[in-house]
Amino acid sequence: RLYCTNEINRAQSAKRNRPMVTIFEQIIKREIPADIVYEDEKCLAFKDVNPQAPTHLLLIPKKRIPMISDAVDSDQELLGYLMLIARRLANERLQKGYRLVINNGPDGCQSVYHLHIHILGGRQLGWPPG
Ligand code: IMP
Repeated sequence: RLYCTNEINRAQSAKRNRPMVTIFEQIIKREIPADIVYEDEKCLAFKDVNPQAPTHLLLIPKKRIPMISDAVDSDQELLGYLMLIARRLANERLQKGYRLVINNGPDGCQSVYHLHIHILGGRQLGWPPG
């Protein structure tokens, strides 16, 4: 599948070309536009620009954590908080079920190095993921 290949290529090259300021930090600072659906002092959620399901949101912490493998013990409260906000955003929109995803590193198909939780739903999702 062409799209999947492109996603993998993007993920494989993303870390090598890892920018100091990511596009998600620019969204937090309102330097580039995004369709923001939720914001509080700790996090921001917006619509994925290339949705993989009828509902595809990204939830990010305002703190810069590049990837889940970089998280440290003192991030425990923030990570729990993000899961509860993800649950709330998903429960409001996706009563028939949903999936929360964190991609990590090139083989995990991560392309933006600012931690994000994908919230996906609105159709029957398959398993296993590609
Ligand atoms: P990853 O592959 O897990 O790193 O996910 C990055 C996601 O960010 C992808 O699903 C992209 O479609 C999405 N994305 C990239 N740039 C933007 C943007 O400017 N706005 C919203 N979503 C974006």
